[in-house]
Amino acid sequence: MSRKLFIAGNWKMNTNLAGGVELAKALVKEVGSLKEIDVAVCPPFVYLGEVSRALAGSGIAMGAQDMFYENNGAFTGEISGEMLKDVGCKYVILGHSERRHVIGESDELINRKMVKALADGLLPIFCIGELLEERNSGRTMDVVTRQVKAGFEGISAADAAKITIAYEPVWAIGTGVTATSAQAQEVHAAVRALVAEIYDKSLADVIRIQYGGSVKASNAAELLNQPDIDGALVGGASLKAADFVGIIKGGL
Ligand code: PEP
Repeated sequence: MSRKLFIAGNWKMNTNLAGGVELAKALVKEVGSLKEIDVAVCPPFVYLGEVSRALAGSGIAMGAQDMFYENNGAFTGEISGEMLKDVGCKYVILGHSERRHVIGESDELINRKMVKALADGLLPIFCIGELLEERNSGRTMDVVTRQVKAGFEGISAADAAKITIAYEPVWAIGTGVTATSAQAQEVHAAVRALVAEIYDKSLADVIRIQYGGSVKASNAAELLNQPDIDGALVGGASLKAADFVGIIKGGL
């Protein structure tokens, strides 16, 4: 089953307005007309509008890093899916480990956001992954199974097909330590089997599972070559055009 690779850059709380626009323009120049791989960038909320203008007409899509599960109202500091669509977002990252472990988001909250994102016509990039102590005590599959089951709760097969899962072992995020391609492939294959169990094999065959955690140009090709790795969610190395382009080229 061939799935088109999907490589997304998560800028997190980085860049400024000028730097974000410059980065987006540099990516448009380098990979803006690439057809073989889906590419997206996920800037901070406040730069989405300007980055969207910089990406206009290119093949690079835009995503947000989070959203709330209501349309509008008294939710100070929150951003709705409608607002994200309004400024040109196609994707939204949900359940990133920094939101789970720094902000304290629960599986239940993330599921509410997933359901709402899909209802709003956004494509979720749904992050899962275990902590180092969970891996070391042999609980990796228990953790990601719980996260997937909770995250997909109440979502139809038709909607589930619109979700990209990002397997991001927490110990590999921003640490410079990358999971080996064998470690990543093992979990990706197990997550795909889990999707087949929850839904069916036809959905498991098409759903894309990205790897995330210290992906760089030097390790991208090997990771992206694994049969169940369908792309990458890239943090630090998505902040420099040359580094991000190097990763994308690793998938060609
Ligand atoms: C991420 O934030 O999703 C991520 C994978 O970060 P990094 O590439 O910096 O490890």
